[in-house]
Amino acid sequence: MSQIYDRVALIGLGLIASSMFWAIKRAGLAGEVTGYARSKATRDTARKIGLCDRVCDTAQEAVESADLIVLCVPVGAMGAVAADIAPMLKPGATVSDVGSVKRHVIEAVSPHIPEGVHFIPAHPLAGTEHSGPESGFAELFDNRWSLLVPVEGTDPAAVARLRTLWEGMGSNVDEMDADHHDLVLAVTSHAPHLIAYTMVGVADDLRRVTDSEVIKYSAAGFRDFTRIAASDPTMWRDVFLTNKDATLEILGRFTEELFALQRAIRTGDGEQLFDYFTRTRAIRRGIIDAGQDTDAPDFGRGKS
Ligand code: NAP
Repeated sequence: MSQIYDRVALIGLGLIASSMFWAIKRAGLAGEVTGYARSKATRDTARKIGLCDRVCDTAQEAVESADLIVLCVPVGAMGAVAADIAPMLKPGATVSDVGSVKRHVIEAVSPHIPEGVHFIPAHPLAGTEHSGPESGFAELFDNRWSLLVPVEGTDPAAVARLRTLWEGMGSNVDEMDADHHDLVLAVTSHAPHLIAYTMVGVADDLRRVTDSEVIKYSAAGFRDFTRIAASDPTMWRDVFLTNKDATLEILGRFTEELFALQRAIRTGDGEQLFDYFTRTRAIRRGIIDAGQDTDAPDFGRGKS
């Protein structure tokens, strides 16, 4: 694929930014990619592993004359970063982000975007439980969805260009309204993460009673919860604080369903349990058919 932007700046150099860099390089989508992270340790690591063509010591230096600037920091830090770089943004440039929550990012970033600069929020639905500059890889976005969340009145040509970049990085791309995005993600990602954190917390309490049995005999279900619950604490704290309403709505529904299942167990209503599990099994089938996961029985654990 050919070059889409002359200069791309990545602000924040963790899992998503580093994966973007390797994916951009793989397909030759940008002339130069600059990068910035707030800590010297991350900038030093980036320089050591060749992450970014040029690692800058300030965010302002990194975004100077960039055509595309992507904010790859935790959701709660987006506003401050946007305020910092605003004076250096060139007319016609596009600012985007990869935050897991969209309404909050739009409210935090938009006021800082100068006249003549496009702001197009985005969210790649791809990730791992790892973080930091060394965790990225070029294939992260392959065949995964990335959502663009343009606000009304955004220049369609700027949106189309950003779409081409995400497609070039391997993604399927869709557009979505911010509130709808936040509700969908509360169901598919945010509430499940909270449930995983809770389940691992419960098991940890139990571990104090049963010593090391929870770890020693941890079965597939629990091990998968621990993988999700190993996700970055800062990122997830920010997700829950900034997608409060949608997450609480979904957790409310979750609690009602949990009580219904609890009652079915207590009253011995096997039919209700069987019907419920049959319905949920079909959802798993749909995810596999849509190519969003594999049918491997060990969740890929045998590979490495
Ligand atoms: P990450 O690996 O933890 O990297 C975060 C980066 O942001 C680091 O470079 C860090 O700098 C910087 N940072 C942290 N706090 C900051 C602050 N207060 N001000 C300025 N910079 C700060 O994170 P990630 O997984 O790439 O996530 C980045 C964004 O992508 C988040 O908004 C997240 O919601 C979104 N996202 C994540 C996933 C996922 O699965 N991980 C998936 C899709 C979208 P230092 O290294 O110097 O500390």
